[in-house]
Amino acid sequence: MNVYDSDRMADVMAQHGFGLVETPECADMVILNTCHIREKAAEKVYSELGRLALLKGAREQVGGQMILAVAGCVAQAEGKEILNRAPYVDIVFGPQSYHRLPEMVARACSVSKNARNSIKILDTDFPVEPKFDYLPDVREGAKGFDRKSNGSMAFLTVQEGCDKFCTFCVVPYTRGAEYSRPTNDVMDEANNLAALGVREIILLGQNVNNYKGLAVGKKNSSEVWSLGRLIKELASIKGIERIRYTTSYPADIDEELIEAHRDVPALMPYLHLPMQSGSDSILKAMNRRHSADDYLRLVERLRKARPDLGLSSDFIVGFPGETNTDFLNTLDIVREIGFVQAYSFKYSPRPGTPAALLSDQVPDTVKAERLSCLQEILNSQQKAFNKSCVGRTLNVLLDRPGKIPGQLVGRSPYMQAVHVDGSGLDTGTFVNLKITEGHAYSLAGEIGKGALA
Ligand code: SAH
Repeated sequence: MNVYDSDRMADVMAQHGFGLVETPECADMVILNTCHIREKAAEKVYSELGRLALLKGAREQVGGQMILAVAGCVAQAEGKEILNRAPYVDIVFGPQSYHRLPEMVARACSVSKNARNSIKILDTDFPVEPKFDYLPDVREGAKGFDRKSNGSMAFLTVQEGCDKFCTFCVVPYTRGAEYSRPTNDVMDEANNLAALGVREIILLGQNVNNYKGLAVGKKNSSEVWSLGRLIKELASIKGIERIRYTTSYPADIDEELIEAHRDVPALMPYLHLPMQSGSDSILKAMNRRHSADDYLRLVERLRKARPDLGLSSDFIVGFPGETNTDFLNTLDIVREIGFVQAYSFKYSPRPGTPAALLSDQVPDTVKAERLSCLQEILNSQQKAFNKSCVGRTLNVLLDRPGKIPGQLVGRSPYMQAVHVDGSGLDTGTFVNLKITEGHAYSLAGEIGKGALA
């Protein structure tokens, strides 16, 4: 979501003459877009700011200027603290106010050099007007995982904020209440992306499967589209050949979405479905609204609809009160389901969240042990899945040059990175590759006869 937000900030500023540069040394403005989800991510902000302060100082010494801005969820949660700890920062703004960036930059630029340390701009409101109404159309800059790619894949935020209040999570506090973008906005943005050459879109939301977009019909009649309905409509856009969505809240997966997995070929057979824990008492303490058994039943229904579905998940180990038995329950369910990849984290107490106040915090050494034990299983499952792909032919969307000259890298339907000798191939195209190697985190493939998809 931060990649998407950063791209949209670039779109906003492009209208005011700002373009992207490769390194901060030559930038008139640097925006640090930050994440507050775990302590480690938040800490990085201050060390990064320290480095940028030196660059800013060097630039000012030779008569230049560097506006330094901090955006995102750390800005939202710790705005005043940032200005105190890093007084050289000019602008601090939260994820809901970046449409007002030009105005903030203009104000920062108009402050005289001498006054700059005393006048700061802080915008961490949750404005009444949705920022999407004030953003320009997506442009070249808004495409892709990474601007160095040719942009055949793009993120598209369809929903923001979260009302779930998992007891470990800061998202409801930093990104605000859940809000779904109207269907017309989403369809327009997807059409623009397709026109720019995007072939794969990843729909984003903190709780994206609870998307409820208002669709206003021709005679001003209105209805609400679920994510399943939205996916069906997006699949009809010419050029959009792959659709994915992330992140999903298990308890909110409805029948229409399961049907979309069955009926929409463009919806890729890969689903990120965070489980967090396999212990019912921990899930309850996390306020997750699903039990381990609910998760298993849901996986059964999804696999019935789409037998080749590859599952990914998120896990937290060492949530307050987690016993060894609770942890073993997580390992059991992981073994039972089998994931094609997953993310796992040590529980990180976050300021303002209920779980941070619980007395039975788990010692870090125990968290570390549990994490490495879980990761060993998850990594071996991922590797086994990658190895099982050897000999299969997978459809790959080539999207960037590889590290080795002449090599191209793309993504399989299961999000695996696939390397191939790129002679005669172009980025931005689909190709059927015979998989020849399966590694821990990637595949290698070769092009056979009739392989162009
Ligand atoms: N909206 C998503 C979560 C996005 S954050 C959801 O509800 O699933 C991505 C992942 O970070 C979460 O799924 C969780 O596993 C992890 N996470 C969130 N808060 C955390 C915390 N306080 N400590 C450790 N991991 C955390």
